[in-house]
Amino acid sequence: MSDERPQLQLEDDFTFACHKGLRCYTSCCRDVNIMLTPYDVLRMKKALGLTSSEFLDKYTSLVQVPRKALPLVQFRMDDEHDKKCFFVGPGGCAIYPHRPWACRMFPLDEHALGGFQVAVTGQRCHGLVQGQPWKVREWLMDQGATQSKEMDGSYESLVSHEWMQNLGEMDNPKVQQMILLALYDLDRFRDFVLNSSFLERFDLDEDTIFAAKTDDLALLDLGFAWVRFGLFGQKTMKLKQPPEAPAEAR
Ligand code: SF4
Ligand code: SF4
Repeated sequence: MSDERPQLQLEDDFTFACHKGLRCYTSCCRDVNIMLTPYDVLRMKKALGLTSSEFLDKYTSLVQVPRKALPLVQFRMDDEHDKKCFFVGPGGCAIYPHRPWACRMFPLDEHALGGFQVAVTGQRCHGLVQGQPWKVREWLMDQGATQSKEMDGSYESLVSHEWMQNLGEMDNPKVQQMILLALYDLDRFRDFVLNSSFLERFDLDEDTIFAAKTDDLALLDLGFAWVRFGLFGQKTMKLKQPPEAPAEAR
C-alpha cells in the first residue's frame, strides 16, 4: 500500500505545539511501536542507572525477523497499565532529556521515499491544529533528533549495508546474538572484551582499552568495529600477529 502522506523536506513548514493543556496530552505515549537504536539504549540505561542487561530485560522485547541479520529491539509498553509507556505520567515523560530518537521525532517520522512526513492526524494530535509554525529542520534540532541521528550514524550505515538484507536461516541467530551483544548489551560486551580471549586476539592500543573500560560511547564504537570486522570482513580491527616460532622449529 502506498504512503500518501505528503513528503516534507528540511526547509518545509508544519504546525505544532504540545503542552499540558491539550486533551490529547500524553495519549501518544501509549501502545506505540518504537524500535530502539543502540544509542537510545545506551542513553536510557545510563539515565536510569541500570546495566544494559537490566534495561533490555525490563524495557524491551526482541523482534526476530527471519533471514534478516538485524535484531529489532522494541521498546516495551506496560501491559498491566493499558499499554502505556513505562515512563509516562501525568506530568509527561519522566525521561524526557533521554527519550528515544523516535519520541524526539514525533509528530514527524521518516517518509519511506526519503524526507519526512507528519505521522498522525490533527484529530489525534491536537498540537498539529493549534500549534506554532516550525520548519522541519528547526524542529529536529530543537528536539535533539538531529544530534541523536548523528550519534547513531554508524548504526544507520550498518543497517543499510547490503550484506544485512538477506541471510541464510542458519546464520541468522548467531549474527543477531553478536549484534545484540556488541551494540545493545554494552555492559556484557565490556565484560566480554576485558575477560575473554578478545584482547589476546585483537591488537588494541592502551588508550582504546582504557576508553572501552570507562566510556560507553567508546565501547559502542569498538562494538561497531568488531561487528563490521566479523560480518563484512572490513579492516576495522587488527588481529595480533602470532608469536614467532623458535628458529630450530622452522
Ligand atoms: S498527541 Fe500530539 S499534542 Fe497530544 S500530547 Fe502527543 S505529541 Fe502532544
Ligand atoms: S519515552 Fe517518554 S516520550 Fe517516549 S513514549 Fe515513553 S513517555 Fe512518551
